[in-house]
Formats: sequence, structure tokens, C-alpha cells
Amino acid sequence: MKKSFLAASALISAIFLGSADATAADVKLYTLDCGDIHMKDLAIFAKDGEFNGRDNQAGDACFVVKHPKGTLLWDTGLPKAIKDLPEGMSVPGFHISLKKTIQDQLAEIGMSEKDIDYVSISHSHFDHAGNLNDFAGSKWIVHENEYAHMFSDAMRAQAQTFSAYDKMENAEKITFTGDHDVFGDGSVTILSMPGHTPGHTTLLVNLEKEGPVLLTGDLYHLTDSRKLRTVPTFNTNADDTLKSMDAFEAKAKELGARVVIQHEKKDTGALPKLPGYLD
Ligand SMILES: [Zn+2]
Ligand SMILES: [Zn+2]
Repeated sequence: MKKSFLAASALISAIFLGSADATAADVKLYTLDCGDIHMKDLAIFAKDGEFNGRDNQAGDACFVVKHPKGTLLWDTGLPKAIKDLPEGMSVPGFHISLKKTIQDQLAEIGMSEKDIDYVSISHSHFDHAGNLNDFAGSKWIVHENEYAHMFSDAMRAQAQTFSAYDKMENAEKITFTGDHDVFGDGSVTILSMPGHTPGHTTLLVNLEKEGPVLLTGDLYHLTDSRKLRTVPTFNTNADDTLKSMDAFEAKAKELGARVVIQHEKKDTGALPKLPGYLD
């Protein structure tokens, strides 16, 4: 009797564990337009000269993942103050502009900042962390190495970048080093893929109808960077970048995932426009 009870409970846990790492029903992935970036000279995006003489019109996408257990904002885009500049803004090497704030776009799906339970950024560059302070009331899921980098003396000295996220020092934090399962059911996983920055990450979202979707962060900036495995000159570690590309491609192949390069307009433009979503 006892034996069959044990067998039955093993079977029950197998069923539950089995269903725990695939998809969660009712997970929705919304794509937000978090800015436009004219990369005036692509040379710095490939250390071996592959992009010399080219420029690129890039987008800058952010994402909202709505899950029955909470809502995650992935990346926060260019600083919202840029929206007030009708011509956008030129910074060395780039021209940046912004049509809508994250708050404008959350309103389009009936949400506000307060509905963002978790915020996470692929990495701390200004075009991803530009509005992080607006979400200091959310739980911040952050790779330990990125956190150490963001609050290093060197970054504190870079006032413009640092002021976009300085309030996060007091935010409620969930730190991790390897991969991080956001909702504990395998449906939304932050993958550690260092190299672009010390704690750079990508995001895997397993959707019921669409299947697995991988968001690249800045592991790749454009379709050709994936094809040619180019490493930007400003990455913190070239070897780690190549290892992360290997891990990413193995995962994409294993899962048959849809890959979305976050700065590639061809990829993000193919996703549903708000208030639409993938599920
Ligand atoms: Zn970057
Ligand atoms: Zn970027």
C-alpha cells in the first residue's frame, strides 16, 4: 500500500515537473518601440573591419511579458527626455530619437508603471537602461556582474549614463549569476550571455502558440552581426562574446526558437504592433 502510494506520488510529481519547463498558458509578449538609432559609422560594431564604410538605421525595442504570476519589463530603451526633442539628438557616432515613451505605450495596453512587477535589462548601455529609474518601484532582476559594473567607481563617474539608473541602488533586487527562471515555471528565462558587458543577458520566452522566442539584447546588433559573428570593438570581452554566441546558437537550434535581434527593424517590425502581442 505504502509502495503504491510512493509510486503514485512520484508519478504525480513527474507530471507536475514535466509540465513545469515548457510553456505557461496565458503568457503574452508585447513589443514596445523604445527609440530609433542611426548608427552613423558601423565600423565599431566589428573589430575585424567587416562593417567598415557602412551605416545602419537601427530600432531599439523593449518588451513586456505578461504572465499569470506577474509582469516583466525587458529593457527600458532611450531616455524619455529625447521625445521632447523634435529633431532627436546627435551624440558622437549616433543620432537618436524617440516617438513614444514606455509610459505612453503601457497605457495603450491598459497598464502603467505600477503594473510592472519585475524589470530587467539585457545590459546597462544608455539605450537599454535609459529609463530604469522610472521602475525603481519594481523588483529589479539583475545579473551580479552587471550590477557590480553599473555601480563601480568608473560608472558612477559617468554622470549622464549613471543618472538614468542611480535610484536602482535602493530598489528591491533579485540577483543571479547563471540563468534565472523569472516565474519558476520555465516559461520566461533570463540567460547569462556575457561579453558585450560583464553581465550581459538575453531572454527566452516560451509561448504557447508561437513557441520559443529568444531576444538577443546586444549579443547581435543587426542580422549581419549574427551571420558574420562580429564582435564590437567596445565589448568588454571578445572571447566571452564568442562563447555566448555559441551558447545562444546552440539554444536557438535545440529549441527551434524565433530569434529577435532587438536593434534589427526587420525582426521587431515583424512582431505584432501594440495593442497586439505574441502568445
Ligand atoms: Zn549595448
Ligand atoms: Zn543597444
